[in-house]
Amino acid sequence: MLTFKDRIILITGASRGIGRAAAIKFAEAGAAGVVINYHRSKDSAEEVAGAVERAGAKALVIQADVSRADEAVALVEKALDHFRRLDVLVANAGIWPVEDRAITDLDEAQWDETIRINVNGIYHVCRTAARIFVAQRGGNIVTISSTAGQRGEAGHADYAASKGAVISFTKSLASELGRFNVRVNSVAPGWVDTDMAASALRENEAQLKQIRDAIPLGRIATADDLAGPILFLASDLARHITGEILNVNGGSVLCG
Ligand code: NAP
Repeated sequence: MLTFKDRIILITGASRGIGRAAAIKFAEAGAAGVVINYHRSKDSAEEVAGAVERAGAKALVIQADVSRADEAVALVEKALDHFRRLDVLVANAGIWPVEDRAITDLDEAQWDETIRINVNGIYHVCRTAARIFVAQRGGNIVTISSTAGQRGEAGHADYAASKGAVISFTKSLASELGRFNVRVNSVAPGWVDTDMAASALRENEAQLKQIRDAIPLGRIATADDLAGPILFLASDLARHITGEILNVNGGSVLCG
């Protein structure tokens, strides 16, 4: 059955949204320790730590901007130092610039920021964790990509390109690290009701209806709807799955 007994889990961007829900679910599934990374939301990260501990796991909160190499490396190393082991990395932290911006208006500053956080951030933490996992001949990485990386997203070319990169990065690592008993998969969410999507889902009734109508299952995902698939991929139940892009979008985009 699905269990993370004795396992140590590190989740980037676990102060809110999908990362928060996954942190709590890993604890509920028996993880020994959960490392909660945050960038700016210290109070929220501490609240998540409380929930993780109430669910029976040890919690460690670490501040780090994953887009900075030094901070991302220190994050993974601190987690290892503290718990003396690391089993699962969930590379989840990311941004979605809210405003629609046509390519003709997409300035270099926005492009650079999105790529720096969504792509470089994943690269820094995955590379550092991969070194640990290769040395211990075992480990598990789950990246969080997006339907935008599969089909593109008008008005958000920077975001879609960053998530397309996450998908091909995931597949590359899966091919490379399988022989070291390291699995690498991605969860590709559609719309999820978190702070990130608030402008579309919580503040615009017409857009909410349009989005919901395009989802065959007829509802918007909650963060918890993503946590289960993340745990599945990280668990031994998925022991022969690597390089998979798992769609969690209610059926709205059907591709791998
Ligand atoms: P969210 O509610 O906005 O939470 C984002 C999390 O990422 C926060 O914990 C935030 O930390 C952290 N973060 C942002 N920049 C960071 C940085 N530079 N370093 C470290 N942490 C950073 O977003 P979410 O909806 O849970 O999104 C999680 C992932 O799912 C993202 O990769 C996103 O692209 C992807 N996704 C979301 C949706 C959606 O509809 N929500 C759809 C597809 C994919 P602080 O608050 O502490 O700063």
